[in-house]
Amino acid sequence: MSGVLEYALSSFLLQGAWVAVQITALAMVAGLLLGLMLALMRLSPLKPISGLAWGYIWLIRGTPLLLQLVFIFDALPRIGIRLDSTTTAVIGFALNEAAFAAEFIRGGILAVSKSQSVAAASLGMGSFLTLRRIVLPQAMRAILPQISNGTIAMLKGTSLASIIFVNELTFRAQQIVATNFAFFTVFAAAAILYLTMTTVITLVQMVLERRLDPELRVIGERPSLLGSLWRMGRPPVAPAPAAPVAGPDEDAGPDAAQPEPKPAMRPAEPVLPAEPVSRVHHAVSDEPFVVFRDVRKTYVLHGGYKHEVLKGVSLDVKRGEVVTLMGPSGSGKSSLLRLVNHLEGLSGGEITVDGALVGYRRANGVLAPVRDLASARAKARIGMVFQHFNLFEHFTALENVMEAPMRVHGVSAAAAREQAMDLLDQVGLLTRVHHLPQRLSGGQQQRVAIARALAINPSLMLFDEPTSALDPELVGEVLSVIRKLTEGGMTMLVVTHEVRFAREVADRVIFMDEGVVVEEGTPQQVLEQPREKRTQRFLRMVEQG
Ligand code: ADP
Ligand code: MG
Repeated sequence: MSGVLEYALSSFLLQGAWVAVQITALAMVAGLLLGLMLALMRLSPLKPISGLAWGYIWLIRGTPLLLQLVFIFDALPRIGIRLDSTTTAVIGFALNEAAFAAEFIRGGILAVSKSQSVAAASLGMGSFLTLRRIVLPQAMRAILPQISNGTIAMLKGTSLASIIFVNELTFRAQQIVATNFAFFTVFAAAAILYLTMTTVITLVQMVLERRLDPELRVIGERPSLLGSLWRMGRPPVAPAPAAPVAGPDEDAGPDAAQPEPKPAMRPAEPVLPAEPVSRVHHAVSDEPFVVFRDVRKTYVLHGGYKHEVLKGVSLDVKRGEVVTLMGPSGSGKSSLLRLVNHLEGLSGGEITVDGALVGYRRANGVLAPVRDLASARAKARIGMVFQHFNLFEHFTALENVMEAPMRVHGVSAAAAREQAMDLLDQVGLLTRVHHLPQRLSGGQQQRVAIARALAINPSLMLFDEPTSALDPELVGEVLSVIRKLTEGGMTMLVVTHEVRFAREVADRVIFMDEGVVVEEGTPQQVLEQPREKRTQRFLRMVEQG
């Protein structure tokens, strides 16, 4: 046994281990970066780019690493590149790892809900910013165990490099055995060294996994290596749980860490008044603010099949006006909203917001999309609220609201924080600012989402069925926040089936079906005396609930 230890601590084997560590570390970093690039290429809608990445992955995964190493060792000098064998090994291992990393990174990215990038886009975040801040941090939790796997496999696999004369651990062990035939002792020593190194990798993985856990980050636990091991297997200490109960009132519960917000800033009572309807008053100018002219949208589906969902919609929304949009599922309401801030491209017609096209420029009378869509969206300052909230899952309420002002509009952290606190106060969530979305009720999440949209100082707010995904008792708290916005004079386009809400706050109600506007008018006209059969049928249906 002492012989084993003696070999394990001999500088000859330790140097071999060090070579293995160096090759692994360098090749892994390079392989992951290249793998990320390949993963993004694979996800590209451009066929030549995704095809190129596919081909690379196909080739590298389909051939033995050993052959790849020999090939590179032989090929590089022929094109005039002379490198030592260790560097060659790093290149070989990196190129090989990239093919595997590309696939697990792509898997991690695909596992992050598309709604996260849609929300980021609506806030004016560009694709690189979205990748760095929103998608990759969430994908990392799925990717990390695979990185750890890959690192361990590579470390052990570095012995293959002896084929191109890299003097690493296994190779050195064999050299000793060749002289003294002490198979067991020498190989056991090598095994101990491998085991030590792979154990370190496993420990690092454990620490990183805990760091990536948003819950632990939120409660400010920054575990050390030992701390992580100590806590392994114990349930995380969670913050005081937010009981998912209704109404802004619970925010002043016993776990309220902040002083109770001023009553004037709290949303109005969520309970909607009984008839007669008390109309909310706000000023509407005559000036058109959002103009839709013969707007058409056709989706091209798999196999080239075309689906026309908007068949020439024309309408104006005036500055300060609140327009509610109703219509059966599939009638094109969401598509219409997504066209306004260019989350989706027009198939025909045009839309202007405050006189300007969003993400298009006019060239010889036709619209051409601009290259930098994200900046165009950021400049247009159009706030959007989604049916399923689409909050950034790894951010707290406060971070969700601060993200776009800081990263898109260059607001300082202090100013963004102050504004975010103020907005969260206005939606009645001052005591929930450090909660992750998963610890908030649906109504609370939607109120955070509204605060997040307001944080970009929008000139127009788009709501896409903001209460449809909520339990009935949570609808009121969200509607009361929206109602307060209308009092402030915000121009709004609200897709909703809440008839009572529309009666109270809408200046105009638009009823759509099958991609066209069927009927429009005041809430009185459309909701009380609908002219069209389709409108009547639809209203009967929603009023029956
Ligand atoms: P609504 O919001 O009124 O329910 P949508 O605008 O979501 O309607 O959808 C209208 C139609 O367009 C539906 O038939 C839907 O399946 C289709 N559709 C929506 N988005 C897409 C898309 N990205 N690709 C293909 N079809 C889509
Ligand atoms: Mg919809």
